[in-house]
Amino acid sequence: MSRKVAEIAKHAYRAVGLPLLGMLGGFALLRRIRRDSALVLMYHSVIDTCGDRGLLTNVNQVDTGSFRWQVWFLKNHYEVVRLSTIVERIRNRKPVTGLAAITFDDGYLSVFESAAPILHAYNLPATVFLIAGLVDKDEMTWYDKVEAHLLNTSVSKITIGAEDYHLDGERETAIRAVKHRLGDVDLEARERLVAELVGQAGELEHAARKRYRLMGWREVERLREQGFDFGVHSYSHPHLTKVPSRSLQLEIDASAKLISDRLHVPIETLVFCYPHGDYDDRVRDRVIATGMLGAMGVKHDLTPPDGDPFALPRVGVSRDQTRAMFMEATVGLSAWLKRRIPT
Ligand SMILES: [Zn+2]
Repeated sequence: MSRKVAEIAKHAYRAVGLPLLGMLGGFALLRRIRRDSALVLMYHSVIDTCGDRGLLTNVNQVDTGSFRWQVWFLKNHYEVVRLSTIVERIRNRKPVTGLAAITFDDGYLSVFESAAPILHAYNLPATVFLIAGLVDKDEMTWYDKVEAHLLNTSVSKITIGAEDYHLDGERETAIRAVKHRLGDVDLEARERLVAELVGQAGELEHAARKRYRLMGWREVERLREQGFDFGVHSYSHPHLTKVPSRSLQLEIDASAKLISDRLHVPIETLVFCYPHGDYDDRVRDRVIATGMLGAMGVKHDLTPPDGDPFALPRVGVSRDQTRAMFMEATVGLSAWLKRRIPT
């Protein structure tokens, strides 16, 4: 099948096939069939409008209207529980039938401002995975810094570590390439390379920084009072499989301790979340050695009761999903199709 025909088939499936499946009760049937697996949703930021396509390469943001509908949907079709409840049950090989949990990665301020009031109205819990080194720092994540500077700069070429990245043509490709490059180095080297980039791109205006803001401890405390839990999302959000072993101490052990101490909760109750969903045996073993409860990846699939508690899949929610696509993902259909029809 040519690429063009495959694209047309995909478009027709989404535009006609999926809504039809919904109308015929297909999603309800699939939900019953897959009910033994839990649904753990992965969000990032929830913003008032997606109109300006702000975070160019970060599709894991949804607008508040879609989020409100999705929360209503979850409330009506699942028993929404704390993530730790699902992880504990999987560790103890107990059923997770009909359970769902809501998670947010990175700790964006928008979760506090836009998502929390909606969850509060429905009285639902959620978990936020914090990047320990960035809470209260008034700093952006390194990948948002790359994106914001490269999106807003007027220069046409950036040189990072003796490599040139051209911005006059495919700016999105350059942003992805720089992010990929910086994800593979340790904290010190990354900070040096990001400073190199910022020096060439120029300062960001306040409006450009605003949408990337992260929570401080004050917001974390307020959300705890509302019933939120917090998990560990490393110290600086690197690709953990690429960083040297000495850096794992900071990224895994120290970040878990920092969050445990700051929130006065035992490490044994915390769940880790692999940045970029990136882990291997070395990384997974290190997380286990800290005594944490479990760890989440980003495999975009339902969470089975017999899953590995230190490599649990989640279903990502993105701004490009229609309601039918959201339901397709929540019954595990998109993951099932992806396994059979690789793109
Ligand atoms: Zn993340």
